[in-house]
Amino acid sequence: MNEGNNKLIVTKIQNGTVIDRIPPGKALKILEILGIDSNYPYTVALVMRVASRRMKLKDVVKIKGKAITPQDIQKLSFIAPTATVNIINDYEVKEKVFLKIPDHVEEFVDCVNPNCVSNTHEPIVSSFDVVSKDPLILRCVFCDRLLDQKYLNRRL
Ligand SMILES: [Zn+2]
Repeated sequence: MNEGNNKLIVTKIQNGTVIDRIPPGKALKILEILGIDSNYPYTVALVMRVASRRMKLKDVVKIKGKAITPQDIQKLSFIAPTATVNIINDYEVKEKVFLKIPDHVEEFVDCVNPNCVSNTHEPIVSSFDVVSKDPLILRCVFCDRLLDQKYLNRRL
């Protein structure tokens, strides 16, 4: 199957978001992160493990009526760093965002350490340096605790 055939499966959307080149099998997690569940009132198309020239297999999601926030982008970049986010407006791609894992994140997840100042002092928000991208490891700037991909997958 080539990318031309993929377009036959899913029709174009007028306004919304298309997330392409998602690592195979991650599409469901992406919908979860974006808060899309069975109550979402608009069309959602999800294609898992379709052929991709670049990455052999990929997932794709199309979400009608969904505007992606910078915070969504940050979360998605940790789950699907290969993905591209296409903002669709009036059937056209208005903006294309190539996800990549940032070097630093704030207010992203809670620190794993319950005694961390970011968990115990209200105005202080969590803050992490990305010390490794593959495998993914974050370090709390306050207590130096390390967070790995497993922890992030559970918390995102
Ligand atoms: Zn901490």
